[in-house]
Amino acid sequence: MTLCACTSRENPFLTEWNTPYGIPPFDEIQVDDYIPAIKEGIAQQQKEIDAITANTEAPTFDNTIAPYEESGEILSKVAGVLYNITETDRTAELDSVMELAIPLMTEHSDNISFNKALYERVATIYKGDQSNLTREQQMVLKKHFESFERSGIGLPEEDQARLREINTEMAAKTQKIGNNILSESNAFKEKFGISVSDYPNAMTTTEDRELRHQMFDAYTTRGHNGNEFDNRQLILDVMALRIEKAQIMGYSNPAAFILEPKMAHDPETVDTFLDGIMKAAVKKAKEEVYDMQKVMDEDIKAGKLPTGSKIEPWDWWYYAEKVRKLKYDLDEELTKPYFKLENVVNGIFTAAKTLYGVNMEKLEGVPAYNKDKVTTYKVTDDKGELLGIFTTDYLPRESKRGGAWMNNIRDQKVDAQGNMIRPIIVNVGNLEEYLNVDEVQTVFHEFGHALHGLLTQCHYPSVSGTSVTRDFVEMFSQFNENWAFQPELLAQYAKNDKGEVIPQELVDKIINSLKFNQGFMTTELCAASILDMAWHELEGVEGLDIDAFERKVCEDMGLIPEIVPRYRTTYFNHIFSSGYSAGYYGYLWSEVLDKDAFSIFEASGNVWNLDLAKKFKETFLERGGSEEPMILYKEFAGREPDNHAFLVGRGLE
Ligand SMILES: [Zn+2]
Repeated sequence: MTLCACTSRENPFLTEWNTPYGIPPFDEIQVDDYIPAIKEGIAQQQKEIDAITANTEAPTFDNTIAPYEESGEILSKVAGVLYNITETDRTAELDSVMELAIPLMTEHSDNISFNKALYERVATIYKGDQSNLTREQQMVLKKHFESFERSGIGLPEEDQARLREINTEMAAKTQKIGNNILSESNAFKEKFGISVSDYPNAMTTTEDRELRHQMFDAYTTRGHNGNEFDNRQLILDVMALRIEKAQIMGYSNPAAFILEPKMAHDPETVDTFLDGIMKAAVKKAKEEVYDMQKVMDEDIKAGKLPTGSKIEPWDWWYYAEKVRKLKYDLDEELTKPYFKLENVVNGIFTAAKTLYGVNMEKLEGVPAYNKDKVTTYKVTDDKGELLGIFTTDYLPRESKRGGAWMNNIRDQKVDAQGNMIRPIIVNVGNLEEYLNVDEVQTVFHEFGHALHGLLTQCHYPSVSGTSVTRDFVEMFSQFNENWAFQPELLAQYAKNDKGEVIPQELVDKIINSLKFNQGFMTTELCAASILDMAWHELEGVEGLDIDAFERKVCEDMGLIPEIVPRYRTTYFNHIFSSGYSAGYYGYLWSEVLDKDAFSIFEASGNVWNLDLAKKFKETFLERGGSEEPMILYKEFAGREPDNHAFLVGRGLE
């Protein structure tokens, strides 16, 4: 019985949302609602899973996988809202919520992945006759089966126990590696007064060569200083654990284990792929060194540098900028007036309308998580059917994390009653009113992810939209960037405040500048990807010396002495502390796919080829993860992906 009227308020996560388009009732949600809703959500999903496993009938897709896909509605609602606003409108109260929420959610998801009864039902269906299932159902089934298998649930008890120990030990050590990198990066900032993210910029503008040398040394030895933040032993420990885990799972090395469910599938494919790019990139980088040396020789003649000075790694950014000014002469202060944020947004919408028949209509008065800062649109197709809801949140604020990203507040699916549920997608950025070239690309990039999320026509949420492998997902965002500087589109959106369209002369400079310094950029990125693979293809680390190993790997890949990998081992956060182990190649892999797919448009003689756009939409954008990426790719291109267009696009061929 309620004692006081004020406590009778219902937790909005536990009610049905009768808002327009089922948008979360952001205004009604209070910070105290999350944890009770998560607890209720966990109980709800546990009950739903218990009902599946208690079923005495033989397991089928319909009595096991379908209800499992449908389960956890409350948790999905909470996660959609909470994960979004902790990144955009972080507060101390939300931090405390997350501190409680993460262990609750982790424990719950562990309970599911180690639910033997559920696993056995999934395994029975997977190993049985699948011919009565749709292709999408087969993919959903495979995804769940593999996720169970890869947690080790099918292994003998003692192996499972060891895996749990490994996971715990690994979590603590990778956390420590990340913290050490942070401490060493802070030390760098204290010493030079610049943050590590400003390093390239500082290396470009610092004239004092000795200071550049010092910054380079400090930057590239982070985690390698023999102090309390040294990562060398920790990395060897983590690698030993990863190797042991892979071998318990039946693979010879971590890369083989990690890559199996990915588009690239195996280490050999990734190695061959990276090797091909590295050769072309280094060749170009050597030409760039030659150009820079000529500028340096002028400085020697002018008496600024001693005779015989050669380009060193700490000279690269600085002299590259001088070459850029000489060769490309792009002044972004001149281009910015043509790239007002709202005009660029017009540009992404116009391109999507032209290519895919997508209509955007601004919605007023609908619930929003930060009303004054975000804009919400209703998205429909060319027949007026609802595709989804799209919110933009481009402007910076203190409470927002850095960078730009796309987020799903609600996944697309067909629910148990057969209702089509359309997605709610957000694009977030930290942009000013007028954009530079890079930021224009960012807006197109994130909208590419948004289109992948909005146009999806799947049945099951675990494969809909952007639920695809990491080495495939960036293809869609990068693909959309290809339209940013097409003259027909620029004519419609790139206008200054007087309404004048950007002059062709500036457009030419932009397009030329996109190829600038790509020998270096590709080499350092590819070198880091190869280093990542080399670490994760190890089958043991006993007696291994990190420095000698890294030297050997760099020598074998043909790296030139003027360039170091974008990340060296002891501060390679992506692979030792985030989820990118044996995955850093994904950036280049996705770019090869996107450039190759775009080259098919170009080869048709018209980048606005609507038949191809329709094919791209129907083959890729609508199908999410409901088919193997390589099969989709071959369906679209009629062949396997080829890196030629990528190399040409980066000016490497
Ligand atoms: Zn992206």
